[in-house]
Amino acid sequence: MFKTAFLDLPPLAAAAGSVRLPGSKSISNRVLLLAGLAEGTTEVYDLLDSDDTRVMLAALEQLGCTLERSGSVLRVTGLGGRLKVTQAELFLGNAGTAMRPLTAALAVLAATQGGRFRLSGVARMHERPIGDLVDALRQLGCPVTELGQPGFPPLQVGSGAAGALDTATPIRVRGDVSSQFLTALLLALPLVSQHHPVAIEVMGELISKPYIDITLRLLERFGITVQRDGYQRFVIPQGSAYRTPGRIHVEGDASSASYFVALGALAATEHPIRIEGVGLNAIQGDIRFVEAAQAMGAQVQGGDGWLEVRRGRWPLKGITLDCNHIPDAAMTLGVMALYADSPTRLTNIASWRVKETDRIAAMACELRKLGAQVIEGPDFIEVAPLQHWQSASIHTYDDHRMAMCLSLAAFNPLAGAQPSVSVRIEDPRCVAKTFPDYFETLFSVVTAAPGAIPVLTVDGPTASGKGTLAAELAQALGYHLLDSGALYRATALAALQGGVALSDGPAVAGIAATLDIRFEGETVWLAGQDVSAALRLESTGGLASQVSVHPGVRHALHALQLSFQRLPGLVADGRDMGTVVFPQADLKVFLTASAEKRAERRYKQLIAKGISANIDSLLLDLQARDERDKNRSAAPLKPAEDALLLDNSDLSIDASVEQVLSWWQQRKAPKVSG
Ligand code: C5P
Repeated sequence: MFKTAFLDLPPLAAAAGSVRLPGSKSISNRVLLLAGLAEGTTEVYDLLDSDDTRVMLAALEQLGCTLERSGSVLRVTGLGGRLKVTQAELFLGNAGTAMRPLTAALAVLAATQGGRFRLSGVARMHERPIGDLVDALRQLGCPVTELGQPGFPPLQVGSGAAGALDTATPIRVRGDVSSQFLTALLLALPLVSQHHPVAIEVMGELISKPYIDITLRLLERFGITVQRDGYQRFVIPQGSAYRTPGRIHVEGDASSASYFVALGALAATEHPIRIEGVGLNAIQGDIRFVEAAQAMGAQVQGGDGWLEVRRGRWPLKGITLDCNHIPDAAMTLGVMALYADSPTRLTNIASWRVKETDRIAAMACELRKLGAQVIEGPDFIEVAPLQHWQSASIHTYDDHRMAMCLSLAAFNPLAGAQPSVSVRIEDPRCVAKTFPDYFETLFSVVTAAPGAIPVLTVDGPTASGKGTLAAELAQALGYHLLDSGALYRATALAALQGGVALSDGPAVAGIAATLDIRFEGETVWLAGQDVSAALRLESTGGLASQVSVHPGVRHALHALQLSFQRLPGLVADGRDMGTVVFPQADLKVFLTASAEKRAERRYKQLIAKGISANIDSLLLDLQARDERDKNRSAAPLKPAEDALLLDNSDLSIDASVEQVLSWWQQRKAPKVSG
């Protein structure tokens, strides 16, 4: 997961390959609640692991459910409809799929068995309406108190006392703000169906009907067959009780699939994008996004649990579509619209305004930053194709879908953008709500426009602190890190292990050419052995400097070093990164510090590690190594002509990082607008 403040997507050009989707959020949280209320143990397979499911799991645990995880299976032992804990404060983040159903379930349990629960979330959760559900629960006779604004969380349900509910009178609930209110009642009311069948009547046009279908399908899996009359009236039979199905599988998330369906439609010109985990027979309504994408030009094939998408018509075709049945996935159409031949109008999407953010306003604002013409209304949005693309910093409003769908704007080279532009996604971590590895998954199947993957090189004499600086920069930008010195160090170790003399250039080059090295976070594996500690030894640095003088060795490591230039970008640290390996780098930094300062730093480092050292001999050592490195014929130590010099003798690491990031910002970053 990218936890950086922002993620810059360079211009992207093509897509091909296969992705596996995480589990559906809607199914995951419904299944968890049902398993948590049911008698017995349910084995849940392929549950989504994300912010929204985590708050639901935490709530169930607080309520006394037993959760056991083994691999991709979660075993949930439920309450069997009886409260184990009668008081709790539940924090539910920004998860509507946890807040609404838990409110309903706990309200009826607390009212009938005696209990008192408080439910709250993040600030945005407290701006998302719940009044219609509260009204419905009060009709039953459940005590519900709004602790903040009327009609919004935080809420308290139950008063501590046990009483009877009026289940004989049909409960009326509005269906035109969020279908989650009806879902919440459907999931909760079997708990109080002992004496009568319980009827629910929907007032107003029910929106997002496919989500109700998911609820009904899952209730059925848990032994409850709801009788219904269209989407107007629902009856839970008397004596309904949740029965665990024993095991249940969570389908891949169809809303998450929309980004990859769109990706195929935009950029899969040679080979298709294959999507695993969700197929045409999915129970989630958002699967019908596929039809909308087809109407815009996508070529889609699919079966049980898989889809394959390629580009069909190009440019895409502008469409007008009532999106009430695919409210979440429809956002993706708003970005596909940039690549169409005529405007695209998405209608009947008033619910966007009460989601994670006001999505109509947010989409309009961010698409305009890219240069698009957008018309917005109370319940529609219209987006015109984009000719003059502007680089933009996309604000994401703590809304995962804003981050994911706007990432598709990085394919502007395919729309003929001149020049092509990079797209900055602010707070990329917000995708954790439903798809923590979204960007990694995206990068695994896309290709950047030629020469578009950014490279920042850091070079400088030994002990200048370039390794630390490079690592911090890579961390701040979310880029890959190439510690080229480690490759020379590893070559030297491998040569020693293989009994090869370090002075034997051709033999060492042979070792370098077949170096079996793998970087895994801080750990470096050489031929399957953890050599992280050995690599860092001062003595290994000395050996590296012996093998690095052989041109054959340098040549042998060249291709390996180039292979580190992967999306979304690279920070490369070492001698010849800016001069030989990445001469086209976007920014080259040559770090210097006086020999005295460097000797002092190295001295402190060694002492901190408990290694005795002498500062004078360290200084002499450094000066000798500087001379050798400067004067050698193969890759002498010298700044690239276009490098920026940074003397960090008197700078802290943070100050150096800040300086380089501000240079980077001037060169690479999109203009921050809005
Ligand atoms: O940077 P580090 O101290 O790990 O590098 C060890 C040695 O490897 C350096 O002293 C230098 O001689 C060699 N090296 C090189 N070219 C690079 C990186 C390191 O010659 N790109």
